[in-house]
Amino acid sequence: MAYPSELKQLIKRVEETRPLRLKKKRQGWDYPRLSLAEKENRLKEFHPSYKEGSLRELKVGSSKGYAVPLEICEILESWSRIDPDHIDLSKIAYKTDVLVIGGGGAGTAAALLAEEHGAKVIIATKLRHGDANTIMAEGGIQAVSRPGKDSPYYHYLDTLGGGHFKNIPQLVYTLVTEAPSVLQWLEGLGVMFDKTPDGNLKVFHLGGMSRKRDHVAADITGTEIMRTIRDEARNRRGIRVLEFSPVVELVLNEQGRCAGALLYDLETEEYFLVKAKAVILATGGSGRLHIGGFPTTNHYGATGDGLILGYRCGIEVCFLHTSQYHPTGAIFPEQADGLLISEKFRGAGAHLLNIDGEQFVCETEPRDACASSIIRECVGIGKGIPTASGKAGVWLDSPMIDLLHGEGALIKQFVGKYKLFKRYGIDITKEPILVYPTLHYQNGGLKFNENGETSVLGLYAAGEVTGGVHGENRLGGNSLMDVLVFGRVAGTNAALYAREKVEEDRLTLDHVRRFHEELRKEGVDRKKISPILLPDYSNPLIKGRQLTTMYQGTIR
Ligand SMILES: Cc1cc2nc3c(=O)[nH]c(=O)nc-3n(C[C@H](O)[C@H](O)[C@H](O)COP(=O)(O)OP(=O)(O)OC[C@H]3O[C@@H](n4cnc5c(N)ncnc54)[C@H](O)[C@@H]3O)c2cc1C
Repeated sequence: MAYPSELKQLIKRVEETRPLRLKKKRQGWDYPRLSLAEKENRLKEFHPSYKEGSLRELKVGSSKGYAVPLEICEILESWSRIDPDHIDLSKIAYKTDVLVIGGGGAGTAAALLAEEHGAKVIIATKLRHGDANTIMAEGGIQAVSRPGKDSPYYHYLDTLGGGHFKNIPQLVYTLVTEAPSVLQWLEGLGVMFDKTPDGNLKVFHLGGMSRKRDHVAADITGTEIMRTIRDEARNRRGIRVLEFSPVVELVLNEQGRCAGALLYDLETEEYFLVKAKAVILATGGSGRLHIGGFPTTNHYGATGDGLILGYRCGIEVCFLHTSQYHPTGAIFPEQADGLLISEKFRGAGAHLLNIDGEQFVCETEPRDACASSIIRECVGIGKGIPTASGKAGVWLDSPMIDLLHGEGALIKQFVGKYKLFKRYGIDITKEPILVYPTLHYQNGGLKFNENGETSVLGLYAAGEVTGGVHGENRLGGNSLMDVLVFGRVAGTNAALYAREKVEEDRLTLDHVRRFHEELRKEGVDRKKISPILLPDYSNPLIKGRQLTTMYQGTIR
């Protein structure tokens, strides 16, 4: 749907201020950055994670007393989908050395490295292999690739600064020192990054970066990476993939080590058991919980399952008290609500503007500060652009990109978004995009260390399901690198563990029984069940009439 006449009228104000903004941008002028104190105040006043009543202390489990978003409390304080007393753990459907849970970037990288270290691997994933946040990544991947102009030292400092200096230093160290070799690994596997005519990797700026360090494959970087590593995994003899098979519970042995998982076949609606010597959790994030009622950029299966799987085994959670809202999610047309408009647009020169066509924030502020400034403009001081459905947003002045870099520059860098908006009747080389923050990234997650280990022996974790690498706020381009660095680390160490340290023992679901006991004592409603596996957008009235709403499946 093209912009209606009221919005077209308001676009004229953007066009009026554009020549002066363009002139200043060409002279190197940027909107002044917030000081540290201003940034803190802006977050406190306008960031959704700081809003009163948005967090609540957990009542049960290993992080009892830690305050997390209400929507995360809901899944962490809930009953298992299975009754441990009705599961026969002697019936094993598959046996493997390493079970990887999740078929996104972290899981696939982990599987590749585990296989290279001699392990037989099963990847169990909820939907198809590659249906994941990784495949949707657009903005790029951070790594130092220009020694002399950049160094892991600056990458380290930028990452800490973005995370409010709360990140776990050892995790950041591993991220930034491993990143250059991971970039080479990707190129070696066949990932086609954008290059200059002389064959050097192109590098870009994203928010919070003091050096140009972002590498891209046009605006489909995640697709290009996922395509390559998925092909690689599918061609390895030692890796088997179980699709449409989400894990619903981890299984431990009597010594408390992780020894497999219970899976649910989405097709036959049966539960089945995979026994493994080591397990890697790589289930990604939780955007589909719609924290704070926000729309999301995340894929359909991003329901935070790994958090509860790990939590029921006793792993603590961390850094979940802040969520990442990407500053620029589309709000028009309605069918694109929440859709990511990558930070690369701002890196390429697109300004953020209020209803008067005025800039109000430095476009390269870290995401949390930028998102809070947009919310301030729309909600705090009423300078947002209203839509017919009652929302308000700000303009992202995409036509600046061609004006700054020459005609055709936008289409070359953002062909996906250009085509998409063209279908709606909006030419983003000529008209700005209407945007508002959208729920994007789970800043925190399960506690783990630089070896990919969790507090449960034999259980490893990697990617968006974990917490600590990014502190309280992640920088753009750092997650793709995080999932590959720690996916590889977890895969390697899980394979070595499976080879050397495993002791056979009886399998149990006693950790689930213990967790249920805590829930019972706290009087938690038995209808609260997780992992939720898929978000349910059906109308509650219709849902109430469905006979199958409480159907839990059978056992294979
Ligand atoms: C639209 C978008 C754009 C982004 N752009 C960038 C970017 O440009 N640069 C950047 O660095 N980061 C970006 N990010 C963030 C980044 O892509 C993700 O944080 C990262 O890819 C997560 O990787 P992962 O492997 O941890 O999770 P995912 O890639 O999401 O994979 C998780 C997998 O686990 C599966 N799964 C979930 N639950 C279960 C279960 N119970 N059992 C079995 N399988 C399960 C899922 O189906 C999925 O296959 C973007 C994110 C989005 C949504």
